[in-house]
Amino acid sequence: MTIKTVKDVDWQGKRAFTRVDFNVPRTEAGEVADDTKIRAALPTISYLLQEGAAVILATHLGRPKGKVKEDLRLNAVAERLQDLLGVKVIKADEVVGPEVERLAQQLQPGQVMLLENVRFHPGEEKNDRHLAQQYAKLADVFVSDAFGTVHRAHASNSGVAEFLPAVAGFLMQKEIETLTQTLHNAEKPVLAIVGGSKTADKIGVIKAFLQLADTILLGGGMANTFLQAQGCQMGKSLVEADQLENARQIMQTAQELQVELLLPVDVTIAAAVDDAAGAQTVPVDAIPDDKMALDIGPETRRLFAERIKQAATVIWNGPLGVFEVEAFAQGTIAVAQAVAEAQAFSLIGGGDVVAAVEKAGVADKISHLSTGGGATLEFWEGKELPGIVVLEQREET
Ligand code: ADP
Ligand code: MG
Repeated sequence: MTIKTVKDVDWQGKRAFTRVDFNVPRTEAGEVADDTKIRAALPTISYLLQEGAAVILATHLGRPKGKVKEDLRLNAVAERLQDLLGVKVIKADEVVGPEVERLAQQLQPGQVMLLENVRFHPGEEKNDRHLAQQYAKLADVFVSDAFGTVHRAHASNSGVAEFLPAVAGFLMQKEIETLTQTLHNAEKPVLAIVGGSKTADKIGVIKAFLQLADTILLGGGMANTFLQAQGCQMGKSLVEADQLENARQIMQTAQELQVELLLPVDVTIAAAVDDAAGAQTVPVDAIPDDKMALDIGPETRRLFAERIKQAATVIWNGPLGVFEVEAFAQGTIAVAQAVAEAQAFSLIGGGDVVAAVEKAGVADKISHLSTGGGATLEFWEGKELPGIVVLEQREET
């Protein structure tokens, strides 16, 4: 699959409506707590400016649900962007309207403006055609660089493509190329790791990995459902009773396809998430009624690390324990270290697992950390993603 990118456009004197993902974590005072997402968009923005474009940036922040929320304005984001870019950022106080149009008209090549939080507008998440048209009116070309939202059909990331030629920014291009490569041309043996809390959310991605991987390692809350389906007593652990049948089916399919599916053999348990003092390790068939499994145990970590060492490609979604609590973060950290040390090409996607890998301090040793949470999962599941479809369609015409 090929898509057009910012390199395929002559930018001299053109305006670029550029959808980025500046949905950054914030401090209580409303400051930017982590500017990773802003920095990730800099190559595209700098390139556009260098090539003589005027850049109009659009992003969402938080969940204002179609209303103006003062604490979700983009002023702090604009300031941080200006510091990082070293170029003045003109901040609009509205999403669209006459004042925004005036600012966009005045914008010169090499200048940058940032629209207000697009989700302040009720039409954004409804993919309102009229709103998309208003965005399009501001520019000549649509640049799509917000991979984290491609699974949504919203006005600023897919609707606008109906009215403007659409190309991918560098971040988008890298995500699509890397994910496509691992999905269709991964070097074998392929090892997939799936953790996290909600089994129901992960069934689709595990099914996709069954077609792709030679080995699948399951951990985290999600694995509890599989362990119970195998006959383990899980005590107070998080188990999704309505997913037991799905879990059985997946284990059955793994056998048929000769995919090695490994579950934890031991777990770290406690009375509750806040019972770090009571943490202890037991085999999975010895979990007391009043305890819950909150992490994979040391034997499992060794077993998983061994498999990781043998892989040529590692794909990972979802932490293997309640990594937010030190006492239950050790399994995820150990696996993150094993992936970092491995020779394999490693691809990690999912909001929490990426945070966990960063916390483990090995993020720079991972081949590709995907910036999409839900988007990455849906990509792996093989779903059609509206924000990518609009880039492909343009190429056919
Ligand atoms: P990702 O964002 O990487 O896709 P998920 O959102 O699916 O991951 O899952 C992350 C959550 O899973 C974390 O908040 C973590 O605390 C939780 N979790 C992991 N293991 C367990 C467990 N054994 N019991 C309960 N929750 C768990
Ligand atoms: Mg998550």
